[in-house]
Amino acid sequence: MDTTCLFCQIANGELPVELLERAENYVVFRDIAPQAPEHLLVVPTRHVACLSAHDAPAELGELFAAAARWGRGVGPAGYRLVVNEGQDAGQTVAHLHLHLLAGRHLSWPPG
Ligand code: AMP
Repeated sequence: MDTTCLFCQIANGELPVELLERAENYVVFRDIAPQAPEHLLVVPTRHVACLSAHDAPAELGELFAAAARWGRGVGPAGYRLVVNEGQDAGQTVAHLHLHLLAGRHLSWPPG
């Protein structure tokens, strides 16, 4: 755990955020600044700064499987997963997370 990391603090229950799911290796909660009617974050419990730094494919698979399950649930008409990495992509929290967006038509290409 990185004690200065916001998502580590959330995953460890140190910040009062309503978790939609807590599993051994990840947590799911609502984004504080939703960009769609449904905007969830799927976040590994273990601190990993970004997708490129992830070194455990099975854990990553679990993360995507969880996102797909939640996606089907909150976005029966479709959903989008987004991973921002680095400055150009606008990553603001240096702890890997999948954005799950649903509940409206999502235009393409993204901005
Ligand atoms: P990114 O810009 O891809 O790093 O995404 C970070 C996301 O975390 C943003 O969409 C923020 O709105 C979201 N966020 C920041 N702080 C919180 C918080 N306390 N609870 C829930 N979501 C948060």
